[in-house]
Amino acid sequence: MKQTDLFLKTKKQALKDDTSLNSQLLYRAGYIDKTMAGAYALLPLGLQLHNNICNIIRKEINLLNAQELKLNILTPKENWVKTDRWDNFDALFRFKSSYGSSFALGATHEEIITPLAKDFIKSYKDLPFALYQIQTKLRDEARPKGGMLRLREFTMKDLYSFHENRQDLDKYYEKVKKAYLKIFKQLKLKVYAVEASGETFSNLSHEFLTPLEIGEDEILVCEKDETHFCKKSDHGEIQTCPVCKSNIKKIKVAELAHIFKLETKFSKAFDVNYLDKQGKQNLVYMGCYGIGISRIIGILAEKFADDKGLSFPNSVAPFSIHLVPLYTKEAKVNKKIQDQILKIYDKLVKSNISVLYDNREVSNSIKLVESDLIGIPYRIVISEKTLENNSFEFKERNKKTAKIIPLKNFNEKLIK
Ligand SMILES: [Zn+2]
Repeated sequence: MKQTDLFLKTKKQALKDDTSLNSQLLYRAGYIDKTMAGAYALLPLGLQLHNNICNIIRKEINLLNAQELKLNILTPKENWVKTDRWDNFDALFRFKSSYGSSFALGATHEEIITPLAKDFIKSYKDLPFALYQIQTKLRDEARPKGGMLRLREFTMKDLYSFHENRQDLDKYYEKVKKAYLKIFKQLKLKVYAVEASGETFSNLSHEFLTPLEIGEDEILVCEKDETHFCKKSDHGEIQTCPVCKSNIKKIKVAELAHIFKLETKFSKAFDVNYLDKQGKQNLVYMGCYGIGISRIIGILAEKFADDKGLSFPNSVAPFSIHLVPLYTKEAKVNKKIQDQILKIYDKLVKSNISVLYDNREVSNSIKLVESDLIGIPYRIVISEKTLENNSFEFKERNKKTAKIIPLKNFNEKLIK
């Protein structure tokens, strides 16, 4: 894509009344705009980043035999009354329409998916199955904070599974856990899957936590081997590892995802039964599995950045290559630079590599500073210097120095 065609303006000034590094960087680099506290709009660069994250998630969740659907954000009060959450879900947006009916805005979707699934479940032959959506959620947060980390409006992937019994739910739950580890590996995020006592549900649940200085939680981990001991900190004293007696370290973490064994809590509320082989009615077992996509954007921006700007991994970056010509004062030289850059641009486009070509009429220094700020993982520069020795400059955003590579060695394998 040519940069003059992209809806993008980087900003020099900081976002007002917003102290988070992630929202400041994303705003200045032209990924987001702030609508109000707790609600950011995704601009084209931000939406591409968001979609790349969604696609990594989608690919792994589809492999779990789950099917994607889309539920409503506008939900009826009755469903929330049935599960006792109309009055007890603190962050639920509730309102009355001008015509008298009461509604809640979807903060989570058990109240919608459970009665929907009920219509599809008659006997054991209809089980198991799993459904998921990538959907906007709304929560009435008193104090949205941490930039993209705690929002009033955000995107979540939520998956729900339905089973005959506890054993089948346990099996599926373990599969989801493994799929999540694969997802976070592709997102280049170190993750701890930590047992958590569910706050909303009393059953077993796991939180997927990543080390982050501004994270809202703390975990305790064995210093020698993280698989020995890893537990959510209850803000208690530092202790020794129960396996090897090494010291325990405290790490600040942020939540990426949370999974729960709901068991029969919601099937009871909506009376979701199936007929077993013996002709007996049983309650359906359920699990639910969330991933916070908007907060992942914030966490990635927080982690993959330096004093020059963002530095996203190629698996999620909105473009793989930033193509930057550095012009001189001589028209003849500039013509050669442009011919060279267009040749490379065509090659990349033909190879299906996502490339942003900076064709703007701005100074060389502006091009380079803004390129660092936007954080596209690889940069190719053509200049008078590279023309002289038939080469191009290749720089990885997260490395300090650039390589000079002969043009004849140009190929797409440069990109990891
Ligand atoms: Zn240990």
